[in-house]
Amino acid sequence: MKQILFATGNKGKLKEVRNIFLGSGIEILSPDDFGGIDEIEENGNSFEENSILKARIVNEKFSIPTIADDSGLSVEQLEGRPGIYSARYAGENCTFDDNNHKLINELKEFSLPHHAKFVCFAVYFDGKKLLKSEGFLHGKIIDEFRGEHGFGYDPIFIPDGFHSTLAEIELGAKNKISHRSAAFTKLKEMILNETS
Ligand code: IMP
Repeated sequence: MKQILFATGNKGKLKEVRNIFLGSGIEILSPDDFGGIDEIEENGNSFEENSILKARIVNEKFSIPTIADDSGLSVEQLEGRPGIYSARYAGENCTFDDNNHKLINELKEFSLPHHAKFVCFAVYFDGKKLLKSEGFLHGKIIDEFRGEHGFGYDPIFIPDGFHSTLAEIELGAKNKISHRSAAFTKLKEMILNETS
């Protein structure tokens, strides 16, 4: 069976992506199978640059085909912010709650609805071939926290076509519509086409 290493320290992402590759003939390995990886500094200027950076560094280190991703939230009225700074929007070592409060405060001066999208850029790199894919989840930001599931901006994000926030939706349902699922489902097809 073909093996691909997923360059992530995020167990939630690993589970979601393993599910997507289930039955594809590709086994997704984790950095833990290689003794772990050091945190990679995301110093690119875009989701694309950051995901390529992660895949290249990890591929060079372990010499195995590698997938990586970078994701975040882009708010229309804030000209795309927090964007690539989504994880540390309220400053170094901030919590998800800090980020959500900061975003709600910044949006107070703008009229409703606050259109936003989650973006995920996913890449595959085997030392020669680079494959790229992007996924989106469109929706809007609300000014209160709702729900206990998920992580990050989930409690204040309502996907288009839904009345619940992502934090009120079960994980299985979120994974079906998520930006990450869209990006990795396409990437999987590209990898299968490339290597079959
Ligand atoms: P990264 O791809 O692990 O660098 O994620 C960057 C940040 O984007 C996370 O820390 C979250 O704040 C935000 N983010 C990415 N995907 C999601 C999601 O599915 N729900 C909520 N927040 C997300």
